[in-house]
Amino acid sequence: MKYNSEELKRLDKQFIWHPFTQMSDWLSEEPLIISRGEGNYLIDVQGRRYLDGVSSLWVSVHGHQREEIDQAISEQLSHIAHSTFLGLSHVPAIELAEKVIEITPRNLVKVFYSDNGSTAVEIALKMAFQYWQQCRKPRPSKTRFISFINGYHGDTIGAVNVGGIHLFHRLYKPLLTESIKVPSPCCYRCYLGKEYPGCQMSCLSDVEEVMERHREDAAAVIMEPLIQAAGGMLVLPPGYTKRVRQLASKYELLFIADEVATGFGRTGALLACELEGIEPDLMALAKGITGGYLPLAATLSTQEVFDAFHGEYREKKTFFHGHTYTANPLACAAALANLKVFEKDKTLEKLQNKITSLSEGLRSFWDLEHVGDIRQLGFMVGIELVKDRDSKESYPFEEKKGIKVGNEARRRGLLIRPLEDTIVLMPPLSISHTELGEMLHIVYESIKVVTEE
Ligand code: PLP
Repeated sequence: MKYNSEELKRLDKQFIWHPFTQMSDWLSEEPLIISRGEGNYLIDVQGRRYLDGVSSLWVSVHGHQREEIDQAISEQLSHIAHSTFLGLSHVPAIELAEKVIEITPRNLVKVFYSDNGSTAVEIALKMAFQYWQQCRKPRPSKTRFISFINGYHGDTIGAVNVGGIHLFHRLYKPLLTESIKVPSPCCYRCYLGKEYPGCQMSCLSDVEEVMERHREDAAAVIMEPLIQAAGGMLVLPPGYTKRVRQLASKYELLFIADEVATGFGRTGALLACELEGIEPDLMALAKGITGGYLPLAATLSTQEVFDAFHGEYREKKTFFHGHTYTANPLACAAALANLKVFEKDKTLEKLQNKITSLSEGLRSFWDLEHVGDIRQLGFMVGIELVKDRDSKESYPFEEKKGIKVGNEARRRGLLIRPLEDTIVLMPPLSISHTELGEMLHIVYESIKVVTEE
């Protein structure tokens, strides 16, 4: 190593601006610098090992340094690292597209590549907009989007436009042609003051009312199927997503499923849409697509959407969109290997027991006085900490309880990253039962220490 750990820390603070990070805090704290990964662990420059409790931000599927994926990348590297996808094609992208279409809902037939979740979403939004401008019976007034409070679709401007997280999105309002927002179906803090299942999901009538009102000026509705992830791991009531999909069809809106967080096994199924038998018009995939190795994303479309972009060159119906690293061959090779490992390891089959163990392990967390809610969908968990369980009163923002729990867990050898005061657990699907137990133990102790201090 060119620099020792102290020099690296100094240089990081001198030169780097980190994402979603208050840099004043960063500069006054001890930065953690990772040097390698091994299975479900990350190892820092001083050789300390940490269990990767959030899969390196929701991407790692089979763990780090998985031999088959490493090899696939090396093998691809011996052919070519990158060639443009504008006007050319290449082998791994073709093989991957065939595979992706095989494993996703039947009505999705085309793959448009990009390189991260936000771009996958931007592309879906632009496709939906353009579809209505040039489909067989154009509806040029359909230009807006319906999206959910507490929804999150990325940080680029188009994605922020359909985002609904006050903390992240509020400031950028003047930049946006804001989307039409519908309430979050968050049961813990139901805006109607009702309880599931007695409520019979009556919040859906508000969604329907908005869709009906905007059927002439809205192009699409976008949502994260089954769980609003970055919004605080808010698990939607069963059947809710499917109903929104049906309403979208009823009011002639395209339905965009953002599976960036939920895709590739996170929910216990390969895709969340499978759990409710949903066929979206457009789907955004990213994060776990390469097993957490390289940046790659895909926006999938139906034949009908695709057909609206056909025409004579002079008609200018082309989808004028593409990124320099679209369909990077190394990333496509990694994604193909990732999908092969799913089959070889029977990842989804083995996951089911681990999901049950996770649910069982989480039960004891109710003993902790400041645990307000525990939400779980497959391998996606949110433990919401509150100042007062009865009133559901949150801690003051500046108390940084979630961050403190994260810091405490780190001292104990586990890396997690909260969403405000919701402690997020998203371990790699490859985590062992023993490691799962270790993770839960550390999280329990960390919450206890921080909330009882
Ligand atoms: N959509 C969802 C549902 C996400 O959870 C995220 C990221 O967390 C994104 C989109 C944005 O993905 P990226 O960070 O790769 O741009």
